[in-house]
Amino acid sequence: MNIILLGPPGAGKGTIAARISKEHGWPHLSTGDMLREAVRDGTESGAKAKSYMDEGKLVPDELIITILLERVAHDDCEEGFLLDGFPRTIAQADALVEQGIRIDTVLNLIVDHDTVVRRISTRWTCPTCQRVYNSITLPPTQEGICDDDGEALYQREDQKEDVVRQRLVTYGEQTEPLISYYRKKGLIKDVEAGGEVDSVMSSAKAALNNTSE
Ligand code: ADP
Ligand code: AMP
Repeated sequence: MNIILLGPPGAGKGTIAARISKEHGWPHLSTGDMLREAVRDGTESGAKAKSYMDEGKLVPDELIITILLERVAHDDCEEGFLLDGFPRTIAQADALVEQGIRIDTVLNLIVDHDTVVRRISTRWTCPTCQRVYNSITLPPTQEGICDDDGEALYQREDQKEDVVRQRLVTYGEQTEPLISYYRKKGLIKDVEAGGEVDSVMSSAKAALNNTSE
């Protein structure tokens, strides 16, 4: 099944996509992760993307569309895939249509902005293995230290509160219009995402069970 996870930053798209991916084997394609990897690897795309990301703005459509289309063409996407963080603009959604990429369902994660700000600003990352923790819901065994490699955890630039607020503005202006875009196509499944991960996951699964391939 080809699935889009839609919702503001911090809605839990990555968390839910990772779980669905584990259960069904469909690859989890996170454009945010792809861009962060490009920045770490010092590629040309990464160099172009970095300042947009640090400011909570979207990277240019042509850059991210090229990266995503290249990834979706891999063999492991034949049985299905989960798009996390793409599309984020109408132009990106149109690019999927132009390429003949079918979408079966769009899980629209609904959560209020205060919850999102709290979730993201309690999020910590390992600089070495990139494992993500949450100081409230998913803390490391020893505060501030990665369980896997003992590195000191850090907060990404775009997880600081003022940048999170800018990301929410960007979401409202450029990404939220996709909800009516996909609703008109009959693809939206609303998922209440303000609760605990297990309850969001149950709602997401119920939505998927109602989707015919
Ligand atoms: P997104 O991919 O939509 O930006 P993430 O899945 O990265 O969101 O989640 C953002 C942060 O919120 C992470 O620290 C994650 O552990 C935490 N989180 C995700 N879902 C929930 C939830 N239902 N309840 C509490 N915290 C959550
Ligand atoms: P994410 O981890 O999905 O929240 O993405 C982190 C950042 O990467 C975003 O704030 C954007 O700057 C950039 N980004 C990720 N996906 C896209 C996309 N589809 N279009 C434009 N920018 C993106």
